[in-house]
Amino acid sequence: MSVKAKKHLGQHFLTDESIAEKIADSLSLKGYKHVLEIGPGMGVLTKYLLKKDITTHVIEIDTESVEYLKANYLNLADRVIEQDFLKYDITQVFGEQPFAIIGNYPYNISSQIVFKTLEMRDQIPEFSGMFQKEVAQRICSKEGSKVYGILSVLTQAFYDAEYLFTVPPSVFNPPPKVDSGVLLLTRKENYSLPCDETLFFKVVKQGFQQRRKTLRNSLKTFNLSDNLKANVIFGKRPEQLSVEEFITLTQLIENDTQE
Ligand code: SAH
Repeated sequence: MSVKAKKHLGQHFLTDESIAEKIADSLSLKGYKHVLEIGPGMGVLTKYLLKKDITTHVIEIDTESVEYLKANYLNLADRVIEQDFLKYDITQVFGEQPFAIIGNYPYNISSQIVFKTLEMRDQIPEFSGMFQKEVAQRICSKEGSKVYGILSVLTQAFYDAEYLFTVPPSVFNPPPKVDSGVLLLTRKENYSLPCDETLFFKVVKQGFQQRRKTLRNSLKTFNLSDNLKANVIFGKRPEQLSVEEFITLTQLIENDTQE
């Protein structure tokens, strides 16, 4: 018995054992005792995680995959969570303990997985795994790059992002239409920002709404003083600003609205 791939769940099963092992080995296993694998499917990655000195939980939305995992990995059975990762409150499993996240992720919800991770960053020191190559590159890209955007700035505000390697479609069943990319996110030692974090998220998201426009234009809705809008930073486009500059920008806006 094996699981029939379902398109609407983004199921592309990895068939190359050495790549699966390489992904599992990407975690440092330092600073936590638990790892959560998202979307284990038939467990190609899971079996390498189970060899490690760490407790592995898996969360899988597909009932057929869950049955397969429970039947084939007997000692994993009570750590298989049959839930939608995006909707499930994972603190029911881990409480306040730290855990790492890993997976060959369902590509149709990759950005949402990253955003949920960012929300839970206090508990997630490390995150690795495979996305569509463009998404992995975007997360890791720096200012000035064409693909630099919301996901890059928000992720890199809290994590060091490293693109590890590219994986071709041929090692999946069924093969996806695109290349895949594996990345590693390591939470920064000091990951609390020296500015209002809620405002930071708003500024970054609003700033990138219209990539080609200057920040003076995109951030109109913030009702900024003319004095502040004359600052050179507002003459720039969002893709020109580093993470640090977005923090500076947030601080400027914070102080402006307080006046
Ligand atoms: N890791 C496996 C499967 C990758 S395909 C492998 O490498 O072969 C992506 C997996 O994510 C599928 O098993 C799919 O059922 C699962 N999935 C899709 N959406 C999900 C969600 N919202 N929550 C949890 N799992 C999900």
